Amino acid sequence: MKKNVAIIGYGGQGAWHANQIIKSDVVALSGVYDIKPERIELARSRGIFTYPSAEELLSDKNVDIVVITTPNDSHKELSIKALNAGKNVICEKPVMLNTSDLAEVIKVSNQTGKLFTAHQNRRYDVDFLAIKQLIQEGKLGDVVSVESRVHGSRGIPSDWRGKKEYGGGMLYDWGVHLIDQITQLLPNEELKKVFCTAQHTTNFEVDDGFKLTLIYKSGITAFVEVGTLNYIAMPRFYLQCKRGSAKINDWKQNAEVAYCKYWNEKEVLPVQTAAGITKTMAPRDEITLDTYNLDIPVSDVHDFYRNFVLAIDGKEKQYVTHEQSMFVLKIIEKAFESIEKCQAVDFD
Ligand code: NAD
Repeated sequence: MKKNVAIIGYGGQGAWHANQIIKSDVVALSGVYDIKPERIELARSRGIFTYPSAEELLSDKNVDIVVITTPNDSHKELSIKALNAGKNVICEKPVMLNTSDLAEVIKVSNQTGKLFTAHQNRRYDVDFLAIKQLIQEGKLGDVVSVESRVHGSRGIPSDWRGKKEYGGGMLYDWGVHLIDQITQLLPNEELKKVFCTAQHTTNFEVDDGFKLTLIYKSGITAFVEVGTLNYIAMPRFYLQCKRGSAKINDWKQNAEVAYCKYWNEKEVLPVQTAAGITKTMAPRDEITLDTYNLDIPVSDVHDFYRNFVLAIDGKEKQYVTHEQSMFVLKIIEKAFESIEKCQAVDFD
């Protein structure tokens, strides 16, 4: 039987969840609540049941799961209320604003015996899954570095995302997705140092972009960049391994892969540059290098709800664990510390 879901916050992301839940094979939509009358009206016009208050939503005995899709600063209070009301909770990212708030919420989850998870839906992005596949296959050899970027050119949105009191800023907004992806790509690597710089090109209250370097004990580096003032976007992903490289230009494009068949070349033809020739930077030929496109992986965002339902029934481990959410928030805390000190900081 399907589990019933109610949504608190029927904005952009609340409506996204509602649309998915209506199509789901494992969950059904009981209704939504929003503090804005116009959003309530919109939900009703779409045939969705609306609750008169968050309290009435939480006291609906038929509701098994509450999805929290309000601005970031309200996640903690609403999550604790929902858990104490006996509901399992899917909370939007960033799941909390810091690790101590998350620790409090995990404590309530353990006390009530109700599950709590972060909605890390970008683990289902096909560009990320392609890079994950390449690393897991191992054909390209040991990872040297991973670069992950998202670039826009319209500045930070003018809504709550631009305001500190609501938990705005790009580290909390896109950063939390991209950092989570990196930790999924390099699950066994121990983090040593964190270095981050923030941009304030269109907003001075919160970061409207950042550049984050993660330095692992093994020497691997990961670079995460979010920009909102980039009129030319850099590739979404760039993977550098000892025997190959891969690049994904945009959200849904194939990964371009280059695999080095033979390291040694008999003869390297120098390449002409503006001010002279170079052998070091001369491109390889097809005798030593295989180039191909990786097929776009298959992905289904409904797997997130499927997993959560099975986790509630004790049949699967929840896909986004508390440890993972803690780790990502700790990296964000270290990134803020690094921005403040203008230097690399130890992770431990
Ligand atoms: P939004 O501004 O479009 O919607 C937020 C809604 O919450 C608004 O309609 C607002 O009236 C309502 N709201 C505010 N406080 C409330 C309260 N106390 N009770 C009930 N309703 C309340 O914002 P959004 O883009 O939908 O973002 C909401 C959350 O979803 C944020 O945490 C954001 O980071 C997250 N989000 C996640 C993704 C994703 O891909 N996972 C994408 C977008 C947003």
